[in-house]
This record gives sequence, structure tokens and C-alpha cells, in this order.
Amino acid sequence: MAKQMNKNLTKEQKDILFKKGTEAPFSGQYVNHNKAGMYTCVNCGAKLFSSSSKFESKEPGLAGWPSFAEVAKSDAVELKDDSSLGVHRVEVLCKNCGAHLGHLFEGVKDHPSGVHYCINSACLGFKPDK
Ligand SMILES: [Zn+2]
Repeated sequence: MAKQMNKNLTKEQKDILFKKGTEAPFSGQYVNHNKAGMYTCVNCGAKLFSSSSKFESKEPGLAGWPSFAEVAKSDAVELKDDSSLGVHRVEVLCKNCGAHLGHLFEGVKDHPSGVHYCINSACLGFKPDK
């Protein structure tokens, strides 16, 4: 459970961050977003993913959300086993505030590293490089 809640969040953001919702594919503002900078947790502002690790996914079921191959720093996120849909997935949470961000998939073909952080746009903020 999140330790703190930012009061400026929309209802959709709260549903995703705190009730583990998922935004509709291709609906988020950061899906086709290619500016250089740092993606942050929209709830607490913690740095999560650098734009340099963002890639465009064409993998069925994973395309349509912002995709990252690695976290900005090793302790940026917390990973948790998730069997909520009857299949095993790995949930990605903000390490700092505990908010739900998305899921981690490994061994996928859409990035050379095989690592795919599938993150909801609604959970992210963005700080452009100066
Ligand atoms: Zn956070």
C-alpha cells in the first residue's frame, strides 16, 4: 500500500496507482513520447526511468504502453509476484512510495535485452533534460 498520496492526481491515476488498474493501450500520453529526459513517479516524484532506456514495442499484448529496458537506478522500483489474472506476472511498484506502476516482462523478443518494463503513462511524470 502506498505510504502517501499526492492530492493532485486524477481519478484514473488513483485507480491505476492505488487499485492496480491498467490504462487502455495506446491511450497514454507517453506511449509515443520521444523527448530526452527522466520519467518520474507521478505520485511522489521519484526518478524511475531515463528516456534513453525507452523503446517502441511491437510485441502483441505489450505494445501500447510506455516500454523501458531498464530502471534509472537499481533501487527505483520494487518487484512483486502477481497472480491476479491467473497467470504469473511481476508487478512493478515505485520503491519510494509503493504506488503501482505496471509490470515487468522478461525473455521477450521486442528488445535485445529481453527486459520489458510495461508502465502506465498515468503513473508517470516527465522532466525534460535542460
Ligand atoms: Zn512514487
